[in-house]
This record gives sequence, C-alpha cells and structure tokens, in this order.
Amino acid sequence: MLKVYNTLTKRIEEFEPLEDRLVKIYVCGPTVYDYTHVGHARTYIAFDVIVRYLRYKGYKVKYVVNITDIDDKIIRRARELNISPKELARKFEEEFFEDMKALGLIKADYYPRVTEHISDIIKVVRRLVEKGYAYVAGGSVYFDVTKFPDYGKLSGQTLEQIKAGARIEPDPNKRHPADFALWKKAKEGEPYWDSPWGPGRPGWHIECTVMSMKYLGEQIDIHGGGTDLIFPHHENEIAQSEAYSGKKPFVKYWLHAGYLMIKGEKMSKSLGNIIPVKDFLAKYEPDVLKLLVLSAHYRSPIDFSWEKAEQAKNSLERIKRAVERLRKVMTYERLHSENLSPKEKEIYERVNLLRQKFEEAMDDDFNTPKALAEIFEFISYINKKLDEDLVEGALARYAHDTLMELLNVLGLLQKFREAGVSGDVEPLIELLIKVRDDARKRKDWKTADYIREELRKLGVVLEDTPKGTIWKLAK
Ligand code: AMP
Ligand code: ZN
Repeated sequence: MLKVYNTLTKRIEEFEPLEDRLVKIYVCGPTVYDYTHVGHARTYIAFDVIVRYLRYKGYKVKYVVNITDIDDKIIRRARELNISPKELARKFEEEFFEDMKALGLIKADYYPRVTEHISDIIKVVRRLVEKGYAYVAGGSVYFDVTKFPDYGKLSGQTLEQIKAGARIEPDPNKRHPADFALWKKAKEGEPYWDSPWGPGRPGWHIECTVMSMKYLGEQIDIHGGGTDLIFPHHENEIAQSEAYSGKKPFVKYWLHAGYLMIKGEKMSKSLGNIIPVKDFLAKYEPDVLKLLVLSAHYRSPIDFSWEKAEQAKNSLERIKRAVERLRKVMTYERLHSENLSPKEKEIYERVNLLRQKFEEAMDDDFNTPKALAEIFEFISYINKKLDEDLVEGALARYAHDTLMELLNVLGLLQKFREAGVSGDVEPLIELLIKVRDDARKRKDWKTADYIREELRKLGVVLEDTPKGTIWKLAK
C-alpha cells in the first residue's frame, strides 16, 4: 500500500486516487527566463520518479507541467537583452525541454503555456469577481483572502500571522496585505492583453488554477512543486480553485520537494549560486545527477557538492559493472523456477526479495535512499554469487531483468539498455526454437540447421544443452 506525506494534513496518508487507477498530477513548471539549474532539476527528478513509480504500480497517470512564459522576471530580463518577452521565453522553454530530455525525464502529457490561456484565465477571474471572492481596484483584480475562511490551511498560518509578518505593502489597492493579484494592470511598455478591467496580464498564481482545471479537472490527486511554492503560491492556488469551483479539496495530496542547497544556501538565480544543468552534464552523465538527488529523500534538503557528484559517479559505476557481469553469463530461454537447484533457488528468492524490499521502500512515501540501499545490497550479494560461478543462464537473466526494471523506475540506466531483442520479439524466438526442436525430433536436420543459421544472422545464438536449447544475443 502506497503511503505519501501530505503537506496539507502534515501526515503520512494512504494513497487512494479520486478515480480508481487514474492519477491526475500537476507540477508547477519553470518560469522561463534563464537556464535550468540543478536545483530545478532536483524537483523535476523527484516528480519523474513519483510518476514512474505510480505507473509501475499500474496506475494510469495524467501529468501536467505548466510553462510560466510571462511574468516580471521575464519582462525585466527581456528588456535587459533588448528582445521581446516572447522571444526570451521561447528560447528558455526550449532550453528547459532540452535539459529535461538530456536527463531522460519522462515527458508530461501537457506543457500548457500561460500566454495561450489568457481567455480561460479571464473567465475564471471574472467568475471570482462575480462570486464576491475578488475585487477590482485601479485596473487590477485582487483575490480577497478574508472571503475565504480556509486561507492559510496549507502553510498553517492565520491571516493575523500573515498580516503581522507582511512587510510594508507597496500596493495601495490591496485591502488586506495577503490579498494577491489575479490580474495586473499593464504598466507602460509591458506586454498586455485586453480584459473587462482594461489592458493587463494575469498574476502568477491564477495560471496554475486555470490550467490544472482545464487539463485535469476541478479536483486533482497530486499537486507538486518545490517547498518554496507552499506559501504563497500553493496557498493562493487553493483559495482561487476552491472559491471558484465550490469543491473541496482542490488537491487531495500536496507533495513538496526539498531544496537543493549549495554551501548552506538554497540554489537560486537571485543568490547567484546556480549550476546550470548543462554545466553539470558537461562534466558528468545524467545518471550521476539522478543518483545524487535520489540518494536523499525527496522531502529532505540536499547539500550539493562536487564530492557528492564524484561519489554518485562511483556508485553508478558499481551498478553498471554488476549489470555487465550478469549480461556476460545470461541466456534468454524461459526460466523454469521449479527446475532450479537449491543454491539457484536461493538466488531466485533473493531476486524476488529485492523487488519486495524495493516496493516497500517506495511505498513508504517514495523512499528512494532506502530503495537504492536495497539495490546496492543486492549488488553485493549477486557479485558474490557471480564470483562463485553460481549465477548463469536464465537465472542470471532473471536477476538482470529485475534489476534493470527497478532501476528504470528510478529513471536510471536508460541508455544502458541492451541492444537487440525487445520483449515483443521474444515469444517469436521461443516459437522458432520450438519449431526447430520439433524438426530435430523428426530428424529433419536441414530445417533445424536452417532455423539456427537464420537466427544467427539476426544476432540470436542457439546452443543445445542437456537441459534443452538456450539462446543469447551474439556479442
Ligand atoms: P521556478 O522556475 O523558480 O518557478 O522553479 C521551478 C520549480 O523548481 C519550482 O517547483 C521550484 O520550487 C523548484 N526549485 C527552484 N529552485 C530549487 C532548488 N534550489 N531546489 C529544489 N527545487 C527548486
Ligand atoms: Zn503553480
């Protein structure tokens, strides 16, 4: 049974999607005004593994990541570079996709852009005004937090506390310091769209309410992002969404990834301490970053260092070596567990135990450090058995395939797949072997040799043993 920590209830809860077997997940995407850094990557790697594990468990997952392609930072940066905000945003969106692809992260089903949803946003804002949750002031529209009694439930604050903690409010239009802009009146020289309140552009928070409702519906299962988004961004999303739909809760499980830190500070553009994903990948392969990230629980902070990258590189080599050793001795015929010797049976059971332990770790709020520890423990075990020449043939393949499948749930070793046979082709090879066996029984050596020879040309090598015909890929 999968259990997840929910930021909303601050408890570990059993995971049960709203609709049977379907999980709707929305993760706040990047503001595209600069290169993706390894801090961003940490969050997207965390959710990549969450989506992969949900799929592994048999859920159908609908996954949305938005692209914030209009905001203050984009406008400012575009001005500095003397290009249009749109040009800037498209460039860095492209860079983001390139980095995600280089990291081998699975694609979301949708990557909606804010600028392509302006009319949807206007509709929702207008409705919030009609329902009395929002007010118009000075050409802008604000959400009135005092109208939403649940405000503060995600971040665990009262309006009084927020008010006390608020800095001097620069916006005289606001009635309460925690009120936030749904629609911002255009300033001179800024891009704008026409609206019932005059020219302007959406505030930041409303896009996620509108786009998650549009692509996933008014209530979703998982909403994710980094911890920095809990307040105010996600708090505001809840207020807007629940006020609009009248349905509670907007999100069943709120999941937040911890910060990637460097020298004790959060990695962020404004602190000037970023390492772009591209710079990291110039030094190391993508799996090194993934191993580094997954060695910590997704909610814990990670202190990034190059020593850690070096350690992750060594761990990765260890995994690859074990996989290679198994590949050297494995063959492809079907494993008949009932025919195994007691020593082989023990290995077979140990492989099954790995899967079980891996699942237990992942079921425990996606505990990837524990899952990795299980994998490394298994690698020590299987190396020992390989040293003793106890693993070979179909059993070695069983160990290999299980290990590769679990590594794939963590997004690891994707480029380290074997060349050749895909799962779909295997039954056909098995069938040809059977036809050949029948021919041999009839002493039809011509047909038997013909099949063996033609398979060899396709890179499949047959070997007749006292236990039957085994097969492997030509090296
Ligand atoms: P941004 O483009 O700044 O809106 O960030 C995109 C996503 O990356 C958000 O979910 C952030 O919470 C996350 N993020 C940004 N910096 C870090 C960091 N240093 N560690 C972990 N996640 C981060
Ligand atoms: Zn968001």
